[in-house]
Parts: sequence; C-alpha cells; structure tokens
Amino acid sequence: MDFRTEVRTWLADHLADTPAPEPRAWERELGGAGWIGIGWPGEDGETYGNRRATLPEQVVWAEEYARSTAPARMGHIGENLLAPTLITYGTEEQKRRHLPPVARGESLWCQGYSEPGAGSDLAGIRTTATPDGTGGYAVTGQKIWTSLALDADHCFVLARTDPGSTRHHGLSFLLLDMDQPGRIEVRPIRQLTGTSEFNEVFFDGARATENVGGEGNGWRVAMGLLARERGVSTLAQQIGFAEELGRVVAAAVASGAAEDPVIRARLVRQWAELDTMRRHALRTLGATGDPGAPSVAKLLWGGWHQRLGELAVEVSGEAGAVGPEPWTAERGYELDAAQHLFLFSRADTIYGGSDEIQRNIIAERVLGLPREPR
Ligand SMILES: Cc1cc2nc3c(=O)[nH]c(=O)nc-3n(C[C@H](O)[C@H](O)[C@H](O)COP(=O)(O)OP(=O)(O)OC[C@H]3O[C@@H](n4cnc5c(N)ncnc54)[C@H](O)[C@@H]3O)c2cc1C
Repeated sequence: MDFRTEVRTWLADHLADTPAPEPRAWERELGGAGWIGIGWPGEDGETYGNRRATLPEQVVWAEEYARSTAPARMGHIGENLLAPTLITYGTEEQKRRHLPPVARGESLWCQGYSEPGAGSDLAGIRTTATPDGTGGYAVTGQKIWTSLALDADHCFVLARTDPGSTRHHGLSFLLLDMDQPGRIEVRPIRQLTGTSEFNEVFFDGARATENVGGEGNGWRVAMGLLARERGVSTLAQQIGFAEELGRVVAAAVASGAAEDPVIRARLVRQWAELDTMRRHALRTLGATGDPGAPSVAKLLWGGWHQRLGELAVEVSGEAGAVGPEPWTAERGYELDAAQHLFLFSRADTIYGGSDEIQRNIIAERVLGLPREPR
C-alpha cells in the first residue's frame, strides 16, 4: 500500500464514528498509530517513539489530515513548538524524557511567554524563577493568553532566573508540570467565539524541574521557538488554508455570491496570495539564518487568513450575519464554520507576534531602517 493510501485508509477507518472523537482521546489514537512527530529526526535509525517519514510523506500526511473531518489538534504546541526546540537545544536526556510521551499523544503542553505588560515587548517579563536547592526552580508570577493551559499537562515558561537582570538578559526557558494545586491557578478567558482556549496562569512558587539551553540563555531558546511558530511550522497549515479556501469558494458558488465580480476578484486574490505564501515557505525552508523570513511568513498568513474569514461570512449572505440559534448565557454562541473562522481569525494578526511587531523586525533587521524610539 502506498503512503497516501495508508494515511487515507487510517483516517477514514478512525473517523468513521460520529460525533467527532473527543480531542484528548484523539491525540492518543493518533499517537498510538505513530502519526505524531513523524518528521522528527532520530540518531542511527533510533526514534523518539514516532514513525520516521520523509519530507514528501510529511506533506502527504498534512494534506490528507486537512482534507479529512479530523478535529483540530490539541497537541500541536508540544509537537510543533516544544519538540523541535528540545531537538535543537535540549540535552539527550531531556529529549528522551519528553519526546516519547508527546509522540504517544499522552502529554499536552502550553506556552508560558506573554504576561500583562510583556506581550509584544516580551523582554519585559517579570515572572521570576529562583533555584530551590534541589536542582529545580520556584516560579512566581503571572502569564496571560496561555492557550490550552486548562488541559495541558506541562508548560514551558520564560522566566527571569537572574534577579538583577533586565530585558532579554538573565532569562531561562523552564519546563514545569501543570498539576501543582495551590501553586498554579488557571483562570479561563472568554473569547469572541464564546469559547475559552486561552487563560490567565498564576504561579506561586510552582516547581520547574528543568532548564532548556542553560541558565540565562532563555531568550535565544525562546526566539528559536518563535521563529518556528511564525515561519516553518506553517507549511502544513497552508494545506489546511487551501482546504478552507476551497470551502469558501464552494459556498460562494452555492449562494450565488461568486457571480459578483468584486467577490470573484477577492477570491482569486486569496488564491494567488496563498500560492505566494507557499512559494515563500518553500524558498525559505532551509534558510534558518534569515532574520526576516519568519516575519514575512507571519505577515502573509495572518492577514490572509483574516481576509478569508471576512469573505467566508460575506459569501454566506444574511445567514452569515446571524447565528443559527440566539445567544444564551449557558450555551453562549452557536456559530457555524464560517462565523467561527471570521471571529477566530481576528486573532491571527496578534498571536505569535502582532503584524506591527513583524513590520518592525523587517524594517530594522532586514531593511536596516532606523530603530524606532524605545
Ligand atoms: C488566540 C491567541 C492565543 C495566544 N496564545 C498564547 C500562548 O499560548 N502563549 C503565550 O505566551 N501568548 C499567547 N498569546 C499572546 C500573544 O503572543 C500576544 O497577544 C501578542 O504578542 C501581543 O501582545 P499583547 O496582547 O500584550 O499586546 P500589546 O503588546 O499590548 O500590543 C497592543 C497593540 O500595540 C501594538 N504594538 C505594541 N508594541 C508596538 C510597537 N513597538 N510598535 C508598533 N505597534 C506596537 C501591537 O501590535 C498591538 O496592536 C496568544 C494571543 C492570542 C490572540
């Protein structure tokens, strides 16, 4: 059986049941079959619990996944952000400890970077981490906008380990367990979509067991991870984007909106821009030292996806403007896929670094324009 047929058959067999699988159980199902971390390298034929797939096979997996009715992944922070960071900066022991549970779909991670007052200006982090005498740290402070913190088993946290330090000096990239009652409190934040994917997280002497990349090197590790979040990890995302665009085009044809020349031109523009994004991603795939590439990628996909959300509700006509059911305090909003895309995509130009911040990076580090006053 060729790889594409194997993927298609597996997804069809495992998605046959309705309703859709519960996201956490689905992660374990994916992991059990070896579909998580399929692109991770291993040494001498060894793996960290994942199957090893070639680059074309990884693309096939992403394509087939996006085309299927599989739920949005809950384990993407561990798989696509933490794992590559550990592979680059972690010790062999850290890789062996953390990668296999991620590959099995058993351990979910969240990202503890942003704080009130330290979002775009991430170097303003005030969360502290003090050595606790047992090789670990006691972490105290507040994080905000922490996606999936309520469900996560672990968190990677950027914290100040040198108490006298300022800005990006004296920070460390720490790993901690989220199950620390009394020392970690997670408070969900209600979003525009009515759901609460992200949260406030309060640490009060929470124990962090490990430091990735060494004390004081947190900024370098954190930036390596962010470059991935903005750039390379989005190649697979574009395959999902193509599927979403296909659905918006189909809705525009069905509703008659596609007969409007302005809508047609906007749909064509989305298609052309998606192709530009794909080419940019392929061109910069191996250019790890290019300081502008992740920012250009982030600017391209954030705005593109937001405009797709706007088109999705516009082509639905009146139905796009109102929910299928009235809002209630218990149930909140009931949104169809187009409305959900429209509302959630407002965040695309913010998370992972806002558009303004990406433009500043390109202006200062690529074009050599004068630095903005700070
Ligand atoms: C859906 C979603 C999920 C997220 N998930 C996570 C997560 O899991 N973990 C995590 O750590 N964070 C997460 N974030 C936080 C995200 O990284 C921050 O929201 C983002 O970096 C912006 O920071 P801020 O919200 O503090 O806004 P601010 O930094 O206060 O910015 C407010 C506005 O001012 C602009 N601005 C700020 N500085 C400048 C400047 N120098 N020049 C020009 N304009 C400027 C910004 O572009 C923005 O428009 C998430 C955010 C969203 C929306």
